[in-house]
Amino acid sequence: MVSGSVDPAEDRSGGEEASLQEEDVPIPQERQGDNSASEVSPISDERLLAHRLTNFISTMELIRPDILRAIPVSLVVHLIPWYWWRGLPMVSLSKVTHGIDEFISHCWQAAAWQKYINILLLYQALPAFGVATFFAIIAFVLYALDILPASDVTTLKSAWCLGSGVGAFYLALLLSYRRSMVFLDLACIHQEDRRLKAEGILSMGGFLKRSKSMLVLWGGRYVQRLWCVFELSAFIHSHGERASIRMCPPLLGPTLLGGHFAFSVGSLLLLNWHWEREGLDVGRALFGLVCVPAFTFAVHSVRAYFRSIDLLDKQLRQFSISECQSSCCEAEHPNGMSCDRQVLLSCISKWFGSVQAFELCVQSDVRARMVHQLANDTLTYPRILLAASPALFALMDLIIWFNTEIYWLMVELYRPLSYWLGVFPFVIKLVFHISHRLRARLCTMCLDILLSLTIVVFAISLFLGINLVEEIYLRQLLPNHLHASLAFLSICILLAALSWCCMPRIRY
Ligand SMILES: [Zn+2]
Repeated sequence: MVSGSVDPAEDRSGGEEASLQEEDVPIPQERQGDNSASEVSPISDERLLAHRLTNFISTMELIRPDILRAIPVSLVVHLIPWYWWRGLPMVSLSKVTHGIDEFISHCWQAAAWQKYINILLLYQALPAFGVATFFAIIAFVLYALDILPASDVTTLKSAWCLGSGVGAFYLALLLSYRRSMVFLDLACIHQEDRRLKAEGILSMGGFLKRSKSMLVLWGGRYVQRLWCVFELSAFIHSHGERASIRMCPPLLGPTLLGGHFAFSVGSLLLLNWHWEREGLDVGRALFGLVCVPAFTFAVHSVRAYFRSIDLLDKQLRQFSISECQSSCCEAEHPNGMSCDRQVLLSCISKWFGSVQAFELCVQSDVRARMVHQLANDTLTYPRILLAASPALFALMDLIIWFNTEIYWLMVELYRPLSYWLGVFPFVIKLVFHISHRLRARLCTMCLDILLSLTIVVFAISLFLGINLVEEIYLRQLLPNHLHASLAFLSICILLAALSWCCMPRIRY
């Protein structure tokens, strides 16, 4: 009997505990010439079964070709929450395939909603961002040409660019269709039919071998789960050193999409703030009251994120597969259930020469790759542009309110572009690096929050300083507004390029 990768406490798919009772296991036939088992004599039925399972799983073959299933990633986004909520069998969403674009490896203990938001972000957000930008530009042109009506400024103001951009983004995020075929165990392995489920688990090596890349939805316990480590080892074994593995931290999706939503709401409120009636200073004070605590919380979270990478680094440096946990052991092998550990360790041993060799591989190569990716590739330039895009759309609306001539529209358009393409990414990149340097927790909570606040104050000062350079020096130096705008845009893009290309990568 071999138990699967599904922990009973976390199995919300409507199925029962994912353990294979002995009668469920489709015992693979010995390959011709493989008689090593018979050399051990006498041998128990249990050991013989484990030996046969090891021999089969380690070949990374499929029990039968039509066991290989994958699901279009858009169906995961569109339908999995509904199926999960209603307890419907998800395997009907997947179909038989010859290859898998990406294998999604995840820890069942991690929160389901976080994993869903991460899948939404990783697969759908960038195309949705492209659609949003397209619609915002169309709205900008139509609004500038007075084809779209302007509202009375004393009531709710028109926000055509913001409305089109943000509306198109969320619609495309949820409704667009991508054909990438991914492997998600919930949908690609039968959860109700125990024999089919057993066949799927036995073919796990075959699934991994036929996957072009692997997405690891990393959570705090990922490297402590035996089946997660097994999936990782099988993928590295079958694809070699150049195995394409993407790491995704648990809060990446919620943070970026939350940031996008906050920018959307904040931009709408700012557009409708009656600056002329309430006064600029009151507006700035209110803006600061909302933004400074929000930014402080964000910086505080980034510092905590780097500390979690420290913890992962430490865990992986001391990685020992004997400390990995599996559901069978946690359930204390009820009703005579035997342990997965023997079969999985034997497979790993076959692939890497010995368990110790695999542990060394995790402690060095896998650790370096995972930690490096989590520290350096989480915050990417396109992701910052995506999160800050509502601010750009709102500024596009603002420009049209205050400028009616095409020349001035063009001149003023360079300003939001400069901030969006250059200033925001530059400041955020810098804050990210400073947060890494100052990630250590201070002795008291107050001091710790004060440190995060200091980083925010520095970032705001830097932002205002750049604003001052633009407003005072650059405009005075270059009286021609178009030249000044173009010069500012060039400087901002250069700053962003320097910070993103020349700033040293974070090392562990
Ligand atoms: Zn066990």
